[in-house]
Amino acid sequence: MEHPPKTYRESGVSRIHGASPEQEQELSSQFSQETREPRLPLTELQKSPELKAFTERLIADVDDYIRSFGCTPVAISADNISFNDYSMMSDEYAEQIKRYQQRAGEHHPLSSVVSVHEDPITASRLRLAGIIVHELFHLHSYKALLQRPEGTTTPHRFGFRVYGRDKKILFHYTDEALVAELTRRFFERYFPSNPFLTDELKGTQSSPDPFLGDYKTTQEKEVLRHSYDNLRADLNSLITALWEEHQDQFAAKEDVFALFVKALFNGDIAPVSQLINSTYGQKSFKTLGSNSALNLNNK
Ligand SMILES: [Zn+2]
Repeated sequence: MEHPPKTYRESGVSRIHGASPEQEQELSSQFSQETREPRLPLTELQKSPELKAFTERLIADVDDYIRSFGCTPVAISADNISFNDYSMMSDEYAEQIKRYQQRAGEHHPLSSVVSVHEDPITASRLRLAGIIVHELFHLHSYKALLQRPEGTTTPHRFGFRVYGRDKKILFHYTDEALVAELTRRFFERYFPSNPFLTDELKGTQSSPDPFLGDYKTTQEKEVLRHSYDNLRADLNSLITALWEEHQDQFAAKEDVFALFVKALFNGDIAPVSQLINSTYGQKSFKTLGSNSALNLNNK
């Protein structure tokens, strides 16, 4: 049977509120262009064929996983995953980068680039995969901007995050919990059959608690630990509670989880908001947003 060609989003930015149709079209084609031909730093590592194939495999599997929820991923290639070439830098500069970029990876929302700070020459493939997959879920998340009357654009929505007034990012931690939980589930589903990880997985033991999902070498060295344990636990309890209240609407608890995932990638948070408000009362979704906000004023 022939399958219809796969559709993709051309960039992560799906909406620009407050822009005229012409402005929206112009900005959208600019973001698409930057996604297709990402601008990478001068210290960008030329990927070995093996590293390129490894990143391509992760991209393809993430793509597949997002489609399993009925969502559409952004069209990207291995060029959208950037590694530092530490051999091009003085030891001092490399040290500085590692110190300042404490996060192992980050995602640049408008250019659809994932920067991996971990050195792929020395790092465990399992750890690299964990970083890349987490950031890829951020990359594929729904994004909306707000066009200001004075002509500038500011972030409005990134995934589950809502950019509120007073430098507060509402639902910031809900978004991270969801991305981290998706990453953990992705591990279970795709890593055992990933040829680039087979050898390393043989030498590791996963935690007896699948929820923690950490991997250690047989010498008890921690290779990888899924991030945001507490936030993921909170999210999972919320999902369980919602499911228990609405078993008439959902055949399985997974269907409630899927509602959150769709909101992350499609941007439609209304079904989640309605479900939470109908369970805990009006405005309870809003309260969740403020309780899981990141306050940039404190930074
Ligand atoms: Zn994250």
